[in-house]
Amino acid sequence: MSNFFISNELYKLSQILEFKGNDKRLVTDIKILAYTIQSLTFELDASNFDRIEKYLTDKPKIKNIIKELVLNGKSEYIDILSKDVPPSLLKLLKIPGIGMKTLYKLYKEFNIMDIYSLKSLVKEKKLRTIDIIGEKGEEIIGKNINYYFKLQREFSISYADSIFSYIKEILLGLNSKYVEKAGSVRRRKEVVSNLNVVCANNNAIKLKSKLKDFNIIRNFEENGDFVNFKINDSEIDINILICPEEYFNSALLYFTGPKSLNNFLYDKSKNLGIQILPTNYLKLDYNEKQIFNLFDLPYIPPEFREHWEKYINMDKNLLSYNIKGDLHIHSNYSDGISSIYEIVRESKDLGYKYIGISDHAEDLKFAKGLSEKRIYKERLEIRKIEKLFNDIKIFFGIEANIRNDGSIDVNESILKDLDFVIASIHNNFNEDLNTNMKRLINAIRNPFVTIIGHPTGRKISERDEMKIDWKKFYKEIENSKTILEINSASDRLDLYSNIIYENSNFDVLYSISSDCHFAPQLNFVSQYGINIAKRALLEDKKIINNYEINDLVKIMNKKRESRNFV
Ligand SMILES: [Zn+2]
Ligand SMILES: [Zn+2]
Repeated sequence: MSNFFISNELYKLSQILEFKGNDKRLVTDIKILAYTIQSLTFELDASNFDRIEKYLTDKPKIKNIIKELVLNGKSEYIDILSKDVPPSLLKLLKIPGIGMKTLYKLYKEFNIMDIYSLKSLVKEKKLRTIDIIGEKGEEIIGKNINYYFKLQREFSISYADSIFSYIKEILLGLNSKYVEKAGSVRRRKEVVSNLNVVCANNNAIKLKSKLKDFNIIRNFEENGDFVNFKINDSEIDINILICPEEYFNSALLYFTGPKSLNNFLYDKSKNLGIQILPTNYLKLDYNEKQIFNLFDLPYIPPEFREHWEKYINMDKNLLSYNIKGDLHIHSNYSDGISSIYEIVRESKDLGYKYIGISDHAEDLKFAKGLSEKRIYKERLEIRKIEKLFNDIKIFFGIEANIRNDGSIDVNESILKDLDFVIASIHNNFNEDLNTNMKRLINAIRNPFVTIIGHPTGRKISERDEMKIDWKKFYKEIENSKTILEINSASDRLDLYSNIIYENSNFDVLYSISSDCHFAPQLNFVSQYGINIAKRALLEDKKIINNYEINDLVKIMNKKRESRNFV
């Protein structure tokens, strides 16, 4: 079973268990594993299962479920549980205003099954009869029903990657010579609506007919050199361009885009006398670098192609992305799975010079948020572990929750003793712009808040971003010397490149972090976070992960000191 299906099964399981009111800890753990497996850089199988198993010694239940999926391709436990909860019902959680409790009530009282039965209930004004919804709730759900359709078409890059690995195996198994992802997925866009693939195969007719009969493939369509389809259990559109071996690189360059670059190459090719093939790519048996050179361009890595015109004129030494550490990490003191020791060991393997532990604080009861007593206990442990490893610095921070009024859930007496504080929003995402701005500005102006975490609050495919006035937001961040987070967790990717690029005129620093909840997730920074920075053409000097420890400490203290607060 491929990572894509294992991750899908685990995610489905977490939702069913939550719906049935199971232990929240188990639900969170399973979700963490679903996202971790989705973004693994190797396909899980019997020979390498120990690479995940070794972290799950005290989670036997989850370990066995995953083992079953890896070895047998299915889990009896999941199959039995899924029988009485239709998947179309759980998808309704995408609608702002519908949480698990509300969904359960809707199911019990009206036996709703899908978006269509929900729509007619709203129309008949029946939702308001449920106590926890009421007239206001009915209005909110009615207004937000379209988010369901929007989020249904949005996929995280890690989701697309995991499907690509699966499709690649199929295509290589059908005598294809080369297979590569293209389009926005190759440009590493954070959220994509489709997966474009280029496949070099010298017998396109045979390949198409084999694909058509593949049991997992549906909605199969042929369109010249392209085939389009979906695979079972997924709504993402997959488009494959089939080309002869010698034109693979040319097709890959063209199909990677973006349009502005293709138009440039297309126009210039006429002057250069280069032939254009019917599918629009250039008839050139060269590699990508040679093609760029032919057009008097330096090689442009795919992540930089969005703003390629600006990129070619930039000093590339300013874009080295030398990551020395990660400041947003959860341990098993709050809702993380791994111990601090495991995290430090893994960070050292990544060559980090420092990390910051930032578990949740008191408000987040469901995430085992830390009480004052446990904060001090964690600090003692960190100092002990730091002594075991003499060449890695461990900063002790916290991820505070931004409450509705913009205050945070940690007392000032504690804040003073912390190396840094991330403040982020974890609930009430559906308020109006004004309310959101007041709340955020209050948090930004708090002198102890070092970093604003996952600023838009979105969860890709699950929850849309909050309404934010970005100009106003950036102005506040700049004035207060607060640092902005680029959260690399595969289901967040928040902030994302468009917002960063559009606001590059502000003098603001960024912290690229993993929001790691399980040691293997530390990789999120190099897999996704750095690409967000590249897509936004963010220079090294604006990324705090590039700084040496001494300079980093100065940066983290700057805000408190400038307010004369400590
Ligand atoms: Zn958070
Ligand atoms: Zn976090």
